[in-house]
Amino acid sequence: MTQTLPQTETQAETLALHALLTSAAFAQTTVTRSDFGKTPDGKPVDAYTLKDAKLEVKIITWGAHVTSILAPDRTGKLGDVVLGYDSMDGANSGYLADSKTYMGSIVGRYGNRIARGEFSIDGKTFHISTNDHGNTLHGGVTGFDRKNWIAHKIPSGVELTLVSPDGDMGFPGTLTAHVRYTLVGDKLKIDYTATTDKPTVINLTNHSYFNLAGSGDVLPTVLYVNASRYTPTDKLSIPLGTLPSVAGTPFDFRAPTAIGARIHDDNDQLKLAKGYDHNLVLDAPHTLSHAAARATDPASGRTHTVYTTEPAVQFYTGNFLDGTFTGKNSFQYNQYDGFCLETQHYPDSPNHPAFPTTTLNPSQTYRTTTIFQFTAK
Ligand code: BGC
Repeated sequence: MTQTLPQTETQAETLALHALLTSAAFAQTTVTRSDFGKTPDGKPVDAYTLKDAKLEVKIITWGAHVTSILAPDRTGKLGDVVLGYDSMDGANSGYLADSKTYMGSIVGRYGNRIARGEFSIDGKTFHISTNDHGNTLHGGVTGFDRKNWIAHKIPSGVELTLVSPDGDMGFPGTLTAHVRYTLVGDKLKIDYTATTDKPTVINLTNHSYFNLAGSGDVLPTVLYVNASRYTPTDKLSIPLGTLPSVAGTPFDFRAPTAIGARIHDDNDQLKLAKGYDHNLVLDAPHTLSHAAARATDPASGRTHTVYTTEPAVQFYTGNFLDGTFTGKNSFQYNQYDGFCLETQHYPDSPNHPAFPTTTLNPSQTYRTTTIFQFTAK
């Protein structure tokens, strides 16, 4: 008679192995490609879905947009925590119709504003595309958000590449940019690298609008930002060049405070921008082990923590969302329905020598990383 293991022991071993392979430590991120639509000139736009045991994130090649992030609330219920669209086209919906909000895109070559669309490098003045009251916003009329990036799968994610030719939107130098989105447990990691063949300026960021409740406005969301100073602006959102303390102002989020608690205060800066649209200067260290910002939706418990190597974050409360666009789940986007935490260098740095530099030289590689972590409490 052949000796066999007792049935119960075999089952126990199988169950133990299964538990090990499906445990968080061994959980794999799956990366799946699908069709998303077409560019205006008929080229395919692909979607990549990154999924692990905790999060599901969808990214498209058009503008390297994050189109959705499914994150659990305190009961484990998944909700989509970013604004965006289900498709490329649609009336008042879709990424082609909406050229105004930059919803979820990678903005570049220079995210945020450059005054009068001009700057100088080594004594030479460059005139770039203007698209915002005579200033340049998010790289000009056709920024990186309106380009179809080349994608390929990488372990736990997707890498998107864009080659911006010399003179693109007036910027000098051929710039090759790579954005790697990877999913590890409860963290979406975004690594940016770029090189150039002539001195140029660069400021890449992700422009996601978060809404941790999944709908409604974000005024109840409680926000912490590790920033003691900010960059006040003129009426066109161009920094004045000063870096005052946030102490005693509505820009002080060093103690967690609801976004809506002071947004309607009698404060000139808030009135000029119709809400928050300001660069908060992060206190050192700018490392991935130190939270730069943390937002919590008290109702669902969903919490979004930002880690970054960047020196600042543009905190924007969707002040200019005006109901024109309707996104996923028939959610009509109105003022304050999302908040952005755009990790970056300060706006208009090329015209402020005292600000940390945004110049990239051919001998250098631009490298920044931002992590978005989603937990629930
Ligand atoms: C800017 C806002 C602008 C918005 C466009 C933000 O990054 O700071 O001023 O209106 O992008 O959607």
